[in-house]
Parts: sequence; C-alpha cells; structure tokens
Amino acid sequence: MALCRSTWLSTLFNKAPTIAASAFSRCNFAALIAFSCLYIMKSTEELSGIAQQVRRDIVRMVHAVNSGHPGGSLGCTDYFVALYFHILNHRPDGFDMNGHGEDLFFLSNGHISPVWYSVLARSGYFPVSELATFRKLDTRLQGHPTTHEGLPGIRVASGSLGQGLSVALGAAQAKKLNGDPSIVYTLHGDGEIQEGQIWEAAMYAAHHKIDNIISTIDVNGQQIDGPTEKVMSLGNLRAKWEAFGWTVCEMEGNDMAEVLKGLTHAKSLTGQGKPIMILMTTSMGKGVDFMEGTPKWHGVAPNDAELANALGQLTETLGDY
Ligand SMILES: [Mg+2]
Repeated sequence: MALCRSTWLSTLFNKAPTIAASAFSRCNFAALIAFSCLYIMKSTEELSGIAQQVRRDIVRMVHAVNSGHPGGSLGCTDYFVALYFHILNHRPDGFDMNGHGEDLFFLSNGHISPVWYSVLARSGYFPVSELATFRKLDTRLQGHPTTHEGLPGIRVASGSLGQGLSVALGAAQAKKLNGDPSIVYTLHGDGEIQEGQIWEAAMYAAHHKIDNIISTIDVNGQQIDGPTEKVMSLGNLRAKWEAFGWTVCEMEGNDMAEVLKGLTHAKSLTGQGKPIMILMTTSMGKGVDFMEGTPKWHGVAPNDAELANALGQLTETLGDY
C-alpha cells in the first residue's frame, strides 16, 4: 500500500519528463544560489522573539473561536520558527504547488494548524491579519489545513493522521527524479506513530534510499486520550526507526539553539543513502505554564481569563494581528 500511495504522490508532484532534462541547467543552479544568498538567516535571539509572538498568535486564534489545538502548537513553536525563519530555502512571496528548487514542508499532524498558520503569515505567505479568520466560515485557515481554499504554503490536506510521511516521500522522490537538490521536511505527533501507514512509509523510504527527507517526531509523550505510554506505548523509538533503516538523531525541541543545531546537523546527514528521523523532545503547551505537560490542552481553547493569563506570559514582539 505504501508503494501505491507514494507512487501516486510522486506522480502528483513529478514533472519529470519536462523538468528532469533541464534541472541541472546552469540557469536553474544560478537561480538557486541567488535565492539562497537573498534569504536572510536570523539569530537565535531574534528567533526566540518571533516564537514569543507566534505563541501569542496561537492562543489568541484558538480563543477567538473557542476551538482548535493549542497544546501541540505551543510545543512545536520553536521547531516551526527555526524551520521557516532559518533553515528552509523557500519562497513565501512566490508560492506555487510544485515548489521546484525550494525545500518543502509537510505537516502530518495537521491539527496543530495554529502554529503553522502563524508562522506562514509571519514569514510572508499571506497577510497576518488573516489569522483572525481562523476556523471561521469560508476561511482559508481551516481547522485542519486543506488545499481547496488555496492558502499559500499549503500543498496537501492533513489531519488524518499517518499520511504525511507517504506524501512527503513522494515529493522527495520527485525532487530526486527532477534533479532538484532541495530537502523535504515533515513533522509528526508521537501519538501519530501508532498509525500503521507510518511504518509502511518507513520501509519504503529505506528501501528506495530516499535520503533527501528529514522527518521529525514531536515526542511530547501526550496524545488526545492521555500519555502515549498508557494509550499505546511507543517503545524504543530510536531502535525502531534504526531497525527500519533510518538515520536517527535526537533534539531538545524547546531550546531554540538546540533546535537550530539539531536541524543543521540533520541537513548535514542528507545525501548519504538513508532517510533521516529527528526525535524531538518537547513539552505540550510550552510557554504557558498552566498548559504545559498535560494532554488537557490538546484540543481545548482558553477562556477569557485563561487567555489573559497566557498573554501575560508571552511578549508581544512583532505586534498582535
Ligand atoms: Mg504527542
């Protein structure tokens, strides 16, 4: 089944017959270098400041509609900020679905859309003011990301857990076929790893030596019904992924310097014949003390008093929308 899904997705992203012939042309390579030079990387301090604002956006978005998933969003904020403001080679103001010549990101645990929408807006994919439409009727910012509304930055619908890795592997293979040296990134929840499709995709990736993908699991030990250890133990994740043929790294996900170091190290491991998995330790609800370390805030919005409490803990660094 993984073969079928990934092949279909390869076809979706693949323009191989026309693109492969020109992929390594001097023109494309020069454009890639120029783009990389134009992209300005930010300091750890600047990134931490952006993360403060993104966490404000998350709790305000979810509070405004009394709906959404703040816990995982807050826990993964540092990862998203590091990725979009420092690691990715991407084109926020020139978004297209193919993404040829740029790195791609696929969110597999789509329910943590608040953090993704905030980071996409704050990095220039769409107006920051549009965050105020989150989960409202006819919005482009659906509770779970979809492509139907045409929101820049979203290349596949997500939310049905377990599918994102297959999608990303198709895209990663297409990049190889097209001679595109860019990297494909994915993020998954740890509860999501209980899905069978994940392990089909894991086998597929190693078999096909897809070494231009960097996947990350948000290891917060929590899922909607409680601790992962009680719902269905994940066992030794490092040993499992290594047994499936992946290179495995570990990273502290709520320390910006460590996230930058971890992602940069993972990048250095691409192109060596094996897919790469980062086991990222985070605290669900990170940044808001009463939301931290509990599954209670997996999919619950703060009330007015709780919002005020949360905002009191988070600095407004870029201006609220
Ligand atoms: Mg989790």
